[in-house]
Amino acid sequence: MQDMLQHIAELIKEKDGFTVITHVSPDGDALGSSLALYAALLQMGKHAQVVCQDEVPRAYRFLPRAEAVLLPENALQTEYAISVDCADKQRLGTAAALFDAAKETANIDHHGTNIGFAVRNAVNAKAAAAGEMIAVLLSMLPVTVDKAIATCLYTAIMTDTGNFAYNNTKPETLRTAAALLAAGADNTDIHRRIYATVPFAKQKLLGKALAAMRLYADGKICMTGLTLADFAACHAEKPDSDGIVERLRDIEGVEIAAFIREQEAGVYKISMRSKMAADVSRVAGELGGGGHKHAAGGTVYGTLAQTEEKTLALCERALKEVWKEL
Ligand code: 5GP
Ligand code: MN
Repeated sequence: MQDMLQHIAELIKEKDGFTVITHVSPDGDALGSSLALYAALLQMGKHAQVVCQDEVPRAYRFLPRAEAVLLPENALQTEYAISVDCADKQRLGTAAALFDAAKETANIDHHGTNIGFAVRNAVNAKAAAAGEMIAVLLSMLPVTVDKAIATCLYTAIMTDTGNFAYNNTKPETLRTAAALLAAGADNTDIHRRIYATVPFAKQKLLGKALAAMRLYADGKICMTGLTLADFAACHAEKPDSDGIVERLRDIEGVEIAAFIREQEAGVYKISMRSKMAADVSRVAGELGGGGHKHAAGGTVYGTLAQTEEKTLALCERALKEVWKEL
């Protein structure tokens, strides 16, 4: 992994004109990692931009330079493109065109399903967050981790580890977080902004999702779904559904949680979580997506009822595979 990151560090040192691209529906790791890399590139005096298909969700607009994140249609074509936290090229969304047209590409990611779709690939499934990898990359560059970079990387690692609670949190993860605190990240402020500042519409939407949830497989699978009409009724937007699937997973006895969100008419995005042993990344693979063993997602085209049926059948199968371990 060090070698692969070193290979990308060389590219950054030698060249100029970079587009940092992160995934659609960006989360804290996607934005924190990308903005930290962007800040580092600017510190080195490089020409750079950050691009994402989707707008920065409100919760992450406090990140330093969040306002600089460009939609693909407002971005310039550069010679070099670096994808961050993207498991596959599809996750770049409409920003993939900028990636494909670049002279040389790099891919920095921590998803085990990443096949290495760039010229220079640094993929480390053991890293808790892409932010952990960016922290290592920056240590290879003539860059000072200032308060802005520390804030971005701390947010990236905090969000992908569920506030340092998931089992991807390793001693090294906490050592990196400690160094970021020392460099000026304000953990209390970041925590309050991410976990303790909930828009009214988001809380209403959670209520709707919880009211509609159902148990299957002897209480080991919990599933719920929200339609576009549900979002409209709550005056909620897409990012307001973040966190719902974790509330289902937290229910006593539940091993697999599945949250279905109507993305557009006839298109349903599935978010899945498993608690102990089930591998939801394999379920996601069957739904044209991917992710990690305990957190994965995919897409189904059809009706909500068809989506629920298909998702449930695949989740039941994943459950059977690990039945003895539960
Ligand atoms: P979430 O449920 O929070 O949207 O995503 C959970 C995990 O699954 C994330 O690590 C994300 O990268 C992965 N994931 C979600 N949707 C997709 C998808 O459509 N394709 C792939 N490859 N991974 C996804
Ligand atoms: Mn991530």
